Amino acid sequence: MYSHDEKRINNVLAGAKAPDDAQLDRILKKAELKKGLDLEESAVLLQVRSMGQLERLFASAGKVKNEIYGNRVVLFAPLYISDYCVNDCEYCGFHCRRGAMGRKRLSAEEIQKQTRAIIAMGHKRILLEAGEHPDTTIDYVCDAIGQIYSTKLGNGEIRRVNVNIAATTKENYVKLKRAGIGTYQLFQETYHRRTYEKLHRGPKADYERQLTAHGRAFEAGIDDYGMGVLFGLYDHRFEVLSLLAHAKYMELRYGVGPHTISMPRFCPAPSVAFSPGFPVSDADFLKLIAVIRLSLPYTGMIISTRETPEIRTQAFRIGISQASAASCTSVGGYGDSGNGILGQFELGDHRNVDSVVRSLMSQGFIPSFCTACYRSRRTGDAFMRLAKSGDIHYLCRPNAIMTFKEFLMDYASAETRKDGERMIVREIEKIENTERKLETKKRLARIERGERDLFF
Ligand code: SAM
Ligand code: SF4
Repeated sequence: MYSHDEKRINNVLAGAKAPDDAQLDRILKKAELKKGLDLEESAVLLQVRSMGQLERLFASAGKVKNEIYGNRVVLFAPLYISDYCVNDCEYCGFHCRRGAMGRKRLSAEEIQKQTRAIIAMGHKRILLEAGEHPDTTIDYVCDAIGQIYSTKLGNGEIRRVNVNIAATTKENYVKLKRAGIGTYQLFQETYHRRTYEKLHRGPKADYERQLTAHGRAFEAGIDDYGMGVLFGLYDHRFEVLSLLAHAKYMELRYGVGPHTISMPRFCPAPSVAFSPGFPVSDADFLKLIAVIRLSLPYTGMIISTRETPEIRTQAFRIGISQASAASCTSVGGYGDSGNGILGQFELGDHRNVDSVVRSLMSQGFIPSFCTACYRSRRTGDAFMRLAKSGDIHYLCRPNAIMTFKEFLMDYASAETRKDGERMIVREIEKIENTERKLETKKRLARIERGERDLFF
């Protein structure tokens, strides 16, 4: 079982000094081999401060990102199904001190309605979220997942449900796995035990329960798992190194590292007086995205609408591979902005999906709504092996193009569709394998004729 060695992290941090140009070059050259970095090397990169060195760090991270993920950015939307919570996390708008008034747990019909609203925006992936409460049982969560998968609207449906719910038992993870989840995400919030214990009350205050949850999930058969910390709670260098140490432990112990790392930064929230003791500046935030990208090259990285469009755009260049779009963090809030239910926190990006898609295209990124790996059972180790061999490009590029084509046909504005079609022509030319290129063209024609959900 994982136990976090704070002393080791502190020692590595204490030994890490800002690099000179030669040391920086040596570490970046190693990182560009896409085999990851030692904790000591990551710690040195976190000390980089000068503009010139930062630019080199970003250039290396961008190169690695591009070689592994190309110019694709996968989009999704969160769906909050219940904001009842027995915990009192200092930073969260769902904390139990707020009382039960004005809270909501969605019924099956409401889940279908919310899902239809999300499908209508063009999404194919949902991240299901909930507070922790005895009435929000694992069976309720599994039923909710079933409701989401069975909801159809026009040509659309949700094809992958990822889940972010409280740490739980192995038996409950078995049920989640059986319900057909994609990735199970859980954030440690902070790896600094004293800070963790100060900021949490309720069952979540158990540091070990949180720290060992990914292991239980894996042992229950969930081989796609996601990790993260909430930046702002403690020193970000300590958090990044701790996250990397945890990820390395998981890879060694189970043979599969995290599928994703999420990058939430604290945001102000209704009824929350907490102000972060260790706010992370925009410049530091981008630096640590780049360091994680170089340290764990094959792990997907997620940015949410907590961040502004400007920060998101920069983050896509240096490491982020997945992003939420047009999110609502209140329970039942999609398609019904005035329902009076408070959101979990305030957002930095309020654009609709069409605008996010336009902005991505204008920066040279192709928006992807792909869910193929999970449905072709390319999860866990199978996914990682494919990614490391580089063969993933033969699948991901055509799949991104085909799911983007579906978006353009079914959900895009006329202007976005015009630009998108032009982008698709350019993207097809980038498919190196002639047979795959031909087959992709054939499938695009089938999508034009009304077929949907074609993937490699
Ligand atoms: N309740 C579950 C838990 O705490 O693990 C999972 C869902 S919770 C809705 C998802 C995440 O939101 C938390 O893990 C936390 O990192 C993040 N969060 C909470 N309050 C936040 C805030 N004020 N700003 C940014 N992120 C926040
Ligand atoms: Fe509840 Fe999760 Fe918010 Fe904590 S972060 S109050 S556990 S919903």
